[in-house]
Amino acid sequence: LLKFMENVLGAMDVGFSLPHEFSSQEQQLLLLIGNQIGAAIENAQLYAEVEAQVTRITSLYELGKHLSGALDTQTLLQSVHSEISRVFPIDRFSYLTFNPEKYSTTAVFEAGGDIITRSEEPRKNVEVTVSEQSDISDAIAAGTSIRRTGLEGGAAMNSRLVVPVKSNEEPIGFLMVEAEGTDIYSEAHLRLLESIANLTEIALERARLYEDTINKSMEIEARNKELDDFTYVVSHDLKEPLISIEGYSKILLKDYKDKIDDEAREYLSSVVQSSARMKSLIDDLLTLSRLGRVTEAVHTVSVGLLIKEILHDLRFLLQEKHVNVTVPPGLPEVRYNATQLSMVFRNLISNALKFNNKPSPTIAIDMTEEDTHYVFSVADDGIGIDAQYYEKIFMIFQRLQRNEEYRGTGAGLTIVKKIVEKHHGRIWLDSTVGKGSTFYFTVPK
Ligand code: ADP
Repeated sequence: LLKFMENVLGAMDVGFSLPHEFSSQEQQLLLLIGNQIGAAIENAQLYAEVEAQVTRITSLYELGKHLSGALDTQTLLQSVHSEISRVFPIDRFSYLTFNPEKYSTTAVFEAGGDIITRSEEPRKNVEVTVSEQSDISDAIAAGTSIRRTGLEGGAAMNSRLVVPVKSNEEPIGFLMVEAEGTDIYSEAHLRLLESIANLTEIALERARLYEDTINKSMEIEARNKELDDFTYVVSHDLKEPLISIEGYSKILLKDYKDKIDDEAREYLSSVVQSSARMKSLIDDLLTLSRLGRVTEAVHTVSVGLLIKEILHDLRFLLQEKHVNVTVPPGLPEVRYNATQLSMVFRNLISNALKFNNKPSPTIAIDMTEEDTHYVFSVADDGIGIDAQYYEKIFMIFQRLQRNEEYRGTGAGLTIVKKIVEKHHGRIWLDSTVGKGSTFYFTVPK
């Protein structure tokens, strides 16, 4: 007997062609040889098992690595397929999604040749009802995976493994491998495919979440665009009657000034003022909707030159208000739409000037450089903003002051934010009431 410890692993048959009496020495020797062969067989088996384990763990590790990078279903199943074909003898691999409501499957991924299969195979991307006598219906009924050796029912068929991929314990799909020939797959193959199915399940779930997020953000983008189109059309249409109202009121004020009394004149002046204000509001809405509808060209813009131009345009106002503006030397060139970058600085500088009651205000423009972007800042020593309003001021038509002293529509910062974000930047502020505010925004390099 070939034994290891007390386990019999096989038997050895030793004979002579002539009559022979085995001496006890010979018997001892044969026993020894038997034990040695037993130990060697056991070793070989253990080694094969360890090797299989190592292959299994390595392939799971490799697959895990690949899957963690794959974010769409097809790439992901491609990785599963290439990893499976490294460790499994396969002629065909497929992944079928399962719809429990309709009790149907759809083969969303297939690889391998057209081998003759045991049952009617679903064609790629065609939804078919699961037939009653199929491995998939067996797997669903049993709630586990299925291993077919291809030996059942007399005729020789292909070997096949069918393993459910589950979500919340319910099958959402099936991994299926197949090979021509009988008894190709062992229980170990089945266990390995089950582990692969677990990894696939996690990765599929993640891919689905990712695809959902992408779809949602595309939907939001489309809606925003719709809203911008709507705003554009409505603003445009509102402008026309408004111009008439303003025009006729002005005519009344001018040509009929002797025919109407003071009170009526005052009312008409009010109408003219309100129309002008409404026109500014509509113009801001049009600017804002244009930002969402049209993508303007991007150029290389020298920020230093751009600021110089703005300050030149504002020079009379700056002189009149005794403003001291500081601009650092060596401001960089950036990739931006020049008109829009000008709007950003113009708005921030105008606000710094407007929301300031010092006899001689100071505005400091600055820039710091980070790895991936520049951070520009516009600081003032004005009235400041309470931290509770940091978000509100970026909303359309939100203003903190209603008095005549600070004129405006409340759209400036909304426009600035939209421009900055369109150019993949961020905007925020720091402020102390009574001391001043600093607005920061980033520009990618
Ligand atoms: P507008 O200047 O037309 O009022 P904005 O959108 O530019 O509109 O600004 C919104 C509000 O944020 C302003 O009404 C004001 O209350 C506040 N704000 C903006 N910039 C400053 C600043 N530099 N200092 C103090 N408050 C500011």
